[in-house]
Amino acid sequence: MHIGHRKSKKKPARAKPETMMSRLTLAIGGRPVKVEAMVPARPTRPHLMLPLFRELAGAVVGAAIASAAERGESIACGAGCGACCRQLVPITPPEAYDLGVYSRSLPSSRRRELQARFAAARVRLQESEMLETLLHPERVSEDDKESLALRYFGLGIPCPFLEAESCSIHPRRPIVCQEYLVTSDSAHCATPRPDTIRMVTLAGKVSSALARVDAGDGENEPWVPLIVAAEWSRAHPDRGAALPAPDILQKVLANLEKEE
Ligand code: SF4
Repeated sequence: MHIGHRKSKKKPARAKPETMMSRLTLAIGGRPVKVEAMVPARPTRPHLMLPLFRELAGAVVGAAIASAAERGESIACGAGCGACCRQLVPITPPEAYDLGVYSRSLPSSRRRELQARFAAARVRLQESEMLETLLHPERVSEDDKESLALRYFGLGIPCPFLEAESCSIHPRRPIVCQEYLVTSDSAHCATPRPDTIRMVTLAGKVSSALARVDAGDGENEPWVPLIVAAEWSRAHPDRGAALPAPDILQKVLANLEKEE
């Protein structure tokens, strides 16, 4: 695994660059893969490095798709099929912070539209007595996660970013959404069962590696339900120490290697 960094040439020679290019050459599932994205040049936090982590996840997913194709399997997922977008979507804490940044960057009319959808979902969750649990995901045991996900799926709440059964934030969608691909018939996705859904197996999950970036050894994997991410991130401001981008990247790659 080779990791390289190059300062952006876009800045004047004497000015301190604000970003630098991060380049990785990895072997994923036996395939050589190159990943590159701009990252902050100054000490930073993981949510400001998400473009790189999305690229990394895309490379891992791409290698898995290529392996599936070699076995004669094709991906059933595509625009217009949003059945899985009614599931409980566990995003990483950095992505919860990033969604707040994204929301604030939107024109006010679009922001209000999305806020209304999140608010409607919040009402449904409150009525179903699931809201408190979802606002405190750290209290949900690993054993209880599956039944919670089943209860949530039973509510049929569409992700607020789902429009015409397609993801309206596709380039910025959570990494776990990038990683969720099936080769089974998409007709089964509305009522998924272990015997009807065939997931694409990944060499490692960047979502898990990123979720653990600030977690101690032996701690449960931190997660945040997408549907309450804005509320959660307001209640849990990111107070982690800023670190050089290469150090954060090394942590994520080390976590990813542990998964392989
Ligand atoms: S973010 Fe996009 S891909 Fe993920 S659940 Fe929502 S609509 Fe679906």
